[in-house]
Amino acid sequence: MWAEVVVVGGGLIGTSIARGIASRGKQVRLISDDRAGTASPVAAGMLAPATEVAPTELGLLQLNLASLHRYADFAAELAADTGLPVGLRKTPTVSVAVDSDDVARLDDLAEILAGAGVDVERTTGRQVRRRVPLIAPQIRAGLIIDQDWSVDNRLLWSALRAGAEAAGVTRQTGTVTALIRDDDRCTGVELADGSRIEADTVVWATGAWAGDIVGFDLPVRPVKGQILRLKAHQLPIPEVTVRAFVHGFEVYLVPRDSGELVIGATSEDRGFETMPTAGGVGDLLRDARAVLPITAEYEFAEVSVGFRPASASHSPILGPSPLDGLILAVGHHRNGVLLTPITAELIANLVVDGAWPELAAAFNPYQGVS
Ligand SMILES: Cc1cc2nc3c(=O)[nH]c(=O)nc-3n(C[C@H](O)[C@H](O)[C@H](O)COP(=O)(O)OP(=O)(O)OC[C@H]3O[C@@H](n4cnc5c(N)ncnc54)[C@H](O)[C@@H]3O)c2cc1C
Repeated sequence: MWAEVVVVGGGLIGTSIARGIASRGKQVRLISDDRAGTASPVAAGMLAPATEVAPTELGLLQLNLASLHRYADFAAELAADTGLPVGLRKTPTVSVAVDSDDVARLDDLAEILAGAGVDVERTTGRQVRRRVPLIAPQIRAGLIIDQDWSVDNRLLWSALRAGAEAAGVTRQTGTVTALIRDDDRCTGVELADGSRIEADTVVWATGAWAGDIVGFDLPVRPVKGQILRLKAHQLPIPEVTVRAFVHGFEVYLVPRDSGELVIGATSEDRGFETMPTAGGVGDLLRDARAVLPITAEYEFAEVSVGFRPASASHSPILGPSPLDGLILAVGHHRNGVLLTPITAELIANLVVDGAWPELAAAFNPYQGVS
């Protein structure tokens, strides 16, 4: 079998890339096995270039912001193509602190963001309560960040799958077990059932499993995240995403239009362990309740586990690889939902036109190798 382009991995990253390339006229086959721990349907869906930023990751902030700036058009186009909603909420994120050490961490975040040119509004606990009436009286201080939005990543994934199909992508369930090579060139993939697909270009979007079979050093590891979904039914939920420092821990609460509240998340180096733990769930519920006491009244609907694909720098690895014909789109770690539009655009432009702008070059450790 032959395809012009094979995309391996059908999470948000692979599916959006497949759609992007197919809508530019290429014949695309998307292969995925959607295994347990696939991050895309598990994530919280925050589009948080600012509040997800760490002092050591400021290079990533520019890519994050570039993707956020594309989100409204990306979502509108997808909705127009498919007639499906994606649950984009352009409401701000309110970041809050419980005790004095937490306030110090909030101050640090405000300083980092101000230094990076991101507008934030510093508020007292009382001002936070006016903005988020459900918040606990213990909250001492807050930051309002207008540009950190959210999307319903499950709706987005469904819409992207439909959009990919509409663009002509052939989706195949299967596990790729080897790359077909001709010297230093990747010429296709081999599947677990023994079948082979030759291709001009293979795009590798295999999330936390990226390092498995490529045959060169591709350092991506799984960072386990446990995350909860509560249903408020007739009770009120906050209108904005609330992130909190709670006695040294971090928790976030992300509202959905459906009345669901997503509470996350643990961050654990435990390899590919898919088991939720009593401790993980208990800590998240405890911290959520400290910030928003009403969460104790909601229905406990779901706990799920996903693997963030983390590179050593926590930035994505994008573009050319040491193998000609193999293009990488992996390592999106905590920001893969946010980075979906920019990744799809950059990789589609690379595959179709050979374009590789300065913005992307910083995220390729193999530059000059292939
Ligand atoms: C708890 C949690 C919360 C998160 N919250 C956010 C958030 O709020 N905002 C944000 O931007 N990001 C968030 N993320 C991160 C985000 O989910 C990921 O960065 C993103 O989903 C990665 O997408 P992906 O397509 O690269 O990987 P995945 O979604 O994991 O998809 C990879 C796919 O490749 C398939 N695959 C792998 N190897 C093979 C193979 N050999 N053959 C066939 N198929 C294969 C897998 O089965 C899988 O379906 C969160 C992640 C977690 C775990």
